[in-house]
Amino acid sequence: MPFVSVFNDVLGPVMRGPSSSHTAGAYRIGLLAARILDAPPRRVRCTFDPEGSFAATYLPLGVEPAFAAALLGWEMTDPRYESAVEALEASGIELGFSVEPLEIADHPNEVRVDLEGRDGRRRRLWARSVGGGCVEIHRVDDTDLMLTGKERDLLVFLSRPARAADSEVIGRALGLPEPVAAAGKVLHFVPPPGWKALPGDIAPGLGGIERVVAVEPVFHLRKGEALFTSAAEALALAEAGGMSLGEVTRRYEAQFLGETPAWVDREILARYRIMTRSVEAGLDDANVAMTLRAPSASSIMRKDREGLLPTGGKLTRAAARAMAALHTCNSRGVVCAAPTGGSSGVIPGVIRTLEEEHHLSETDLLRALWAASAVGLVFALRATFAAEVAGCQVEIGAAGAMAAAAVVESAGGSPAAALDAASIALQNTMGSVCDPVQGGCEIPCHTRNAAAAANAFLCADLVLGGYANPIPLDEAVDASLAVGRSLPRELRCTALGGIASAPSARSLQPRSLRS
Ligand code: SF4
Repeated sequence: MPFVSVFNDVLGPVMRGPSSSHTAGAYRIGLLAARILDAPPRRVRCTFDPEGSFAATYLPLGVEPAFAAALLGWEMTDPRYESAVEALEASGIELGFSVEPLEIADHPNEVRVDLEGRDGRRRRLWARSVGGGCVEIHRVDDTDLMLTGKERDLLVFLSRPARAADSEVIGRALGLPEPVAAAGKVLHFVPPPGWKALPGDIAPGLGGIERVVAVEPVFHLRKGEALFTSAAEALALAEAGGMSLGEVTRRYEAQFLGETPAWVDREILARYRIMTRSVEAGLDDANVAMTLRAPSASSIMRKDREGLLPTGGKLTRAAARAMAALHTCNSRGVVCAAPTGGSSGVIPGVIRTLEEEHHLSETDLLRALWAASAVGLVFALRATFAAEVAGCQVEIGAAGAMAAAAVVESAGGSPAAALDAASIALQNTMGSVCDPVQGGCEIPCHTRNAAAAANAFLCADLVLGGYANPIPLDEAVDASLAVGRSLPRELRCTALGGIASAPSARSLQPRSLRS
């Protein structure tokens, strides 16, 4: 059963930049870690493997403030976010980071988190940030399990290793079916929706129980079935029902989250308004404070207005708007990942341009947003948004494909045409590597967002103009994932290869790594 939703995985999280994998992912790992400790923390240490992505990027990508905000229980959008590290220090919580070989390092975004509570309690967690702000806690103390923050989890800590009978005895006492993991000294239950029993209801000492911890989710809960699991299924549904691609996706999300179509429309519009604010903020140089580059989006817009650019026009303005959103993202402003932080400029750049320059009605705007989401869902279902796993093609490539579908939908194109435009946009970024200069999200990320925004319009024109695409989106996504997995680690967000290894890239002087 796929566990993928638009608001959990595609248009979100609403976050501080620069990176969804590193910043928002670290924040969510911090939130879940604090919930699993279930006591006021005194000391927290994160350890990254030297071969992984975090080792080179955790400072420039703002892992420290993200983790600090999570431990303080602050939202990422909290206006105090920039002072989270100092506030954590002032509260007497020690937060430290180190890079050393990890015993488990089978994912580039692996982190070991050691926590100590004020009551002396200790926990050791193994976690991964798996792209677009999604996370996995895959080991707690000595027990392999899987917490994603998408369900309500219940952890039962024992004072001795679990025995065969514990699962049934403890499960019966909790009114729950068998645990999904039971090894070492931890049992992991996933209570069904509506389960009400509280840990305090359990008889003390039963089955060697030391502590029962309810780990509340950090995502929307699933309440229904996924309506489709591939682009082919979405297309078949749309054609059978005489619906647009956007309408099918709107129904998917409403059914999956157990909400009304009106509710999901309001939510997607709210997220879009965050995107447009990120564009507006980034067009004002006074709001921009990046590490490697000065702002340029406002200058590009002004020169376009004054007719000073050799080409100029709508595509250039879409590109400049995309860059503006990335300016905000890299200034640690609030953005909506779409689908990631590093690619959070493409959708705002394109859809804001459609809204302003094609004068879209709210209905058409919604259709464009939902059509973009359809393509994002296909990526989330079949591949990944983690550039650490599959390169920039699953970040910028995915965002560009989503945007191309939005342009077609807004023009009244068919579901097949929207998916074809997405497919060729992706074909054009096949093999794109992740090579962030100095581990930040500025170079080449800004110009790639800009190019993908302009390319989305071009791909829509090509398909609506008559280009017949023979490669379905599902196959293009599968090919992207296969290509991405074959990339060497130097080209998957380690800042060790690609343009990041150019002498001029290495010699750039960052303004600050921490503010
Ligand atoms: S190069 Fe692409 S994938 Fe890598 S951080 Fe930049 S935008 Fe993200």
